[in-house]
This record gives sequence, structure tokens and C-alpha cells, in this order.
Amino acid sequence: MNSVLHRNLRHSLPTASKGEGVYLKDSEGKLYIDASGGAGVSSLGHRSAVVNNAIWQQLNQLECAHTSFFTNSPCESLASRLVERAPTDFGQGRVIFINSGSEAMEVALKLARQFHVERGELTRTHFISRRQSYHGNTLGALAVSGNLRRRQIYQPMLMPTSQIAPCYAYRHQHSNESEVAYAQRCALDLETEINHLGAENVAAFIAEPVSGATLGCATAPQTYFAEIRRICDRYGVLMIADEVMCGMGRTGHWFAMSGEVDIEDSSSATNPVCPDIITLAKGLGAGYQPIAATMASEKVVSVIEKGSGQLANGHTYMSHAVACAAALAVVDEITQRDLLHEVNVMGRYIQALLAATFAEHPYVGDIRGRGLFWGIELVKDKVTKVPFAAELQIAPMIKQVAMQNGLICYPAQGCVDGIAGDHILLAPPFIINTEQINEVVDKLQISLKACLVNKNL
Ligand code: PLP
Repeated sequence: MNSVLHRNLRHSLPTASKGEGVYLKDSEGKLYIDASGGAGVSSLGHRSAVVNNAIWQQLNQLECAHTSFFTNSPCESLASRLVERAPTDFGQGRVIFINSGSEAMEVALKLARQFHVERGELTRTHFISRRQSYHGNTLGALAVSGNLRRRQIYQPMLMPTSQIAPCYAYRHQHSNESEVAYAQRCALDLETEINHLGAENVAAFIAEPVSGATLGCATAPQTYFAEIRRICDRYGVLMIADEVMCGMGRTGHWFAMSGEVDIEDSSSATNPVCPDIITLAKGLGAGYQPIAATMASEKVVSVIEKGSGQLANGHTYMSHAVACAAALAVVDEITQRDLLHEVNVMGRYIQALLAATFAEHPYVGDIRGRGLFWGIELVKDKVTKVPFAAELQIAPMIKQVAMQNGLICYPAQGCVDGIAGDHILLAPPFIINTEQINEVVDKLQISLKACLVNKNL
């Protein structure tokens, strides 16, 4: 029995003992191919000598110096690297480094509030996000998460927020509706909600550019985020992009929002939609250190700089030198090895293979994603898109069977809300090759089959 209080109190977990590239080994010597990078974390694979060396070198210099007294060289370099890679309109933004995605979201919410307070907009306290979203487990982040299952028992403790429609073309786009018309309809939901609440009460809108765990890599229709940007500007509402899971190269761009262009504006291909605040985590440290970031654009920073000149929020381990050195090595390694190119090439390979293997499968409703970030939605009925009953626990069972078959893939149960199917998420390391992708898809196919047999399907 495990002594650590893991999520499932009734089952013991295998002990992970060693990592090597895209593989993990447990203490019994069993090998697993890590096709979900944990949950979109492990972008460089396991045991990268470059990142390990960077950590060791930093430890030999300085582990941590409190940010009330000092800055440090890895955190400054890392912040510059991130700002340089952000969409152009981000300007001379600045970065706050913390420890987890949930913390990054808390910082983003507080930053948005501070921005409005500095401008004398004291009534702007309300946040709008999307249904079936997940932005973290702490109370603020959970309050803006539209995932009912995660919120359930904490509901009375959460601040009031609003949720609008997610971009979920598989279920919500009408058969006679163009992609752009669907994008407009989704975006208008935001304008309607802002008007309903009164713009003077709204602080920010929050969305994942590509929805990860809750909607299985659902991408937005073309022009959606450009329209969202226009609506936010029209009403003085800040736009927060949660790139905790989809950022840091996962979609083939450093920032997932960089893949969002306005097809009505010819200049936008080089100047994509730019959020006011961006959160990053998972792939930032790539699993080598717990680190997350909240990036504040020049627009946000300049208001605070000209106002109080003080960030109202702080944490002990901000800008931890070893964590920042690890993330800096991750960014530099992705850059030097041109791994974003690999994400695009391998992304096209996995997309084609998933389509060839599963598109005709009677229980596969949809396959979607971008780069090396793919979701497979499973449904009871391919024609009506009716999901499996939640009690059947299809996604968790596939995860379990896949583990037995030496495959790590990430399950997401949208069906708990009764409005989406079970999902399997694939987010392998950027160093994966075609042979290893074949192994992943092969093992997934075997595991899906075994799970369906087990459920008498
Ligand atoms: N935001 C998104 C989109 C996530 O997927 C997650 C975690 O899965 C979080 C925020 C919270 O991050 P963490 O688990 O590091 O607190």
C-alpha cells in the first residue's frame, strides 16, 4: 500500500523508477511508452542530459535567493526568451515565475484585478470562462473552471463566475453552418454575457487556445480568437490565454495562440492574436522542475508601472533559480534542436496514422488536435454522437488497460457532464520518432479493443 495519499485511495500505483527518452520503467522492470508526457508535461522526454546538466550547474552556483532581495540570471534570461517568442503585440511584457499551473492562473486572475484597480475600475471583479474548461485546482482557478465534476464539492466556496459556450465543433457546429459562422456564434456568446453582466463589472475572459484535458484537444474555428480579441477590446475586458497545457511548443508554435490568425486581416498571419496575459506550466519545466509562468503584456505592465509600481501578489518560491535554469535549458534545447519543426512533422504523421487506424472505428466519434496534441473522442453511437454512460468508466478503463500494455495515455471524461464523450489524450515528447508513434497507436488500438471486450461492447 502507498504511504502517499494518492488520488485513488483503493489502488496502489506502480513505482516509476527510471526514465529514458520517451520511455519510463517501473521498479519491476516493466517498460512503458509515455504517449501523454504525463499530462502534456514531458516535451523533451525523460532524463535529458542537457537539462540535467543545467540543473546541476545551477545548483553548484545558487539554488534560490528570495525575490524581495534579488533577481537571478536564469530567471531574467528565461523571461527574455519567453517575451521574445510571444506574439508581437505582447510588446515589452514581463514574466512572473511560480510553481504550478493553478498558481499561474491565480496570479493571472489577481493581475487582471490589479490592472483594473490601478485604472480606477473598481467594479471589474467578474471573470468569464467557458463551459467544460479546466484552469486548475486552487479555489480561484477552480472557480473559473467550467468542469462541473472538479467543482462539485467545492461549489459553495467558489467566487461567482460565468461560463460561455466552448468551441466544440464536433457537437455544436450546425451541419449547414460554415466554420467562420460558427466562430462568430461562439464569440458572440461572450459579447452577450458581457452585456448581461455590464462591461463595467467584467475583469477578464479566460480560455485555452486548444482545450486540453476537458475537451480532448478541441481547437477553435478560424477567426474565433480574433473576434474574441475585438470583443474584449471593445468592452475593456482583459483576455487571458491559459497555455498551461497547450503552450511551449505543444501545438507546433511556442505559444498556441500564435496559431490563431484572423483570416479577414491579411497582416495577421505574421501578427497573430495576442492575449493580455498568458499562463504557462507543464511544458515550461518539461517535468525537470516544477515551474510555471504568468506573462503580463506591456499593456498590463505599463498600467501597474505607472500606477502603484508594485505587484500586489507574491510567493516564496517565485523565480526559483534552479527551476528557471531547468526551464531555460528546455527552451534552448527546443530551439537548438529545432524541435518545433519536429512537432509539426511528427504531428502530421500521428494525425494521419490516427485517422487511418481509428476514423472508421464504430466507437470513435472524433479525432482532433494540433501539433503533438491529439484527442480521440469515444461515443456509444457514431451517428447520434451519444456518449457512453459515465458509470461505464470507458476512458479510465482504457488508461488502465493501456498501462498493462505498456502505454501511458491520458484519459478525460467529458461525459461526466453528460454533454461530451470519453476522451483519450495523446501528447508525446517532441523527440518521438515514427517507429515510436507506430508503437503508441498499435498499443492504443489493442487497449481500446480489450476495454470494449471487457465492457461487452
Ligand atoms: N490549466 C490547464 C489548461 C491545465 O490543463 C491544468 C492542469 O492540468 C492547469 C491549468 C493546472 O495546472 P497544475 O495542475 O499544474 O496546477
